[in-house]
Amino acid sequence: MIYYGRQSINQDDIDAVVSVLKSPMITQGEMTARFEQAICEYAGAKYAVACSHGTAALHLACLSLGVGEGDIVWTVPNTFVASANCALYCGASIDFVDIDASTFNISIVLLEKKLVDAEKQGRLPKVLIPVHFAGSPCAMDEIGRLAHQYGFRIIEDASHALGASFNDRKIGACEFSDVVTFSFHPVKSITTGEGGMLVANDKSIADKARLLANHGITRNPELMSKENPEPWYYEQIALGYNYRMTDFQAALGLSQVKRLDAFIEQRTAIAEMYRQQLRGLPLTFQQVQLSVKSSWHLFVVLLNTYDPGKKAYLFELARSSGFSLNCHYRPVYLHQHYCSDGFSAGYCPNSEGYFERVLSLPIFSELDSDLVNKLCAVFRSVFD
Ligand SMILES: *Cc1c(COP(=O)(O)O)cnc(C)c1O
Repeated sequence: MIYYGRQSINQDDIDAVVSVLKSPMITQGEMTARFEQAICEYAGAKYAVACSHGTAALHLACLSLGVGEGDIVWTVPNTFVASANCALYCGASIDFVDIDASTFNISIVLLEKKLVDAEKQGRLPKVLIPVHFAGSPCAMDEIGRLAHQYGFRIIEDASHALGASFNDRKIGACEFSDVVTFSFHPVKSITTGEGGMLVANDKSIADKARLLANHGITRNPELMSKENPEPWYYEQIALGYNYRMTDFQAALGLSQVKRLDAFIEQRTAIAEMYRQQLRGLPLTFQQVQLSVKSSWHLFVVLLNTYDPGKKAYLFELARSSGFSLNCHYRPVYLHQHYCSDGFSAGYCPNSEGYFERVLSLPIFSELDSDLVNKLCAVFRSVFD
């Protein structure tokens, strides 16, 4: 069965991991810092903090911006639940801005409208978490302008978008945002098994995230209450977590970064094949703005008309041909946990209408072009 995403591991990756496993330090050695440095250089950020998964990166990002009880965080419904859960972990409340019906990313028009209303009600968000859906960057310049006007901070959930760029600058440069988070789950641009990272250009944000990723423990005498501490002395100065990445994971990540651009090229070629071969069918593709380059984490198509029977039929036919399709994403607030928080159907109509019609097709660097052809033939057979 072909699933929507999958890692690509070569002998260099395996050798890199094995060499760390044979070394004295399999965690908290030097590999994590080297991997952080590599991502900083790739993305054009000043500081990076590796952590145990992308969800941890989002949680740390919220904490380092001071998100807590009484605060409001906004994100989009068309995302993985972690983009919203991170705010709840901090005791903040979450709200959702609907997506644009053609880019499937946050709608700038609806964001602005919601900000106007929120300002009147004194309920402006502290943080907005835009998600670069499928690897296609959001209109960050517009979001940055609104952040300036309304005084909120920005965490880019770039779990899909390592390797993507906006106006010729890599996602991760933090040009319009405070923090950018990545995930290295095996379906993402590069993998460390589980793993994540946040990047920032503000040192105090990165320092806080690093402290909290390591139990809130410091060995920096400047931060301690004790004067002239002994060399073995350390202090816990905040309530943190163990969100560290191990060194053999970091070694895998460091090895994978070398192939990141090649991975994105392969994904881009597959997306192009799908677009060519499905052209003319009653399907809508994601509109990718001219100013951006997508990392093609997902390739989604929408049935032009809402037809649950047809969607189910396509899903089953693909399945019997060896392809397991997905629907990314069910609007977060429709999940049971969020419904009990007071959200209900009808809240974000674009996201709901999108979800009814969407199917995501397999896309990953090693996906064979014969398989792309085969799946496209299945689609054509349904519509011809
Ligand atoms: C994968 C993903 C995450 C979470 O990453 P993990 O590494 O699995 O914790 C968060 N947000 C989005 C949009 C994702 O796709």
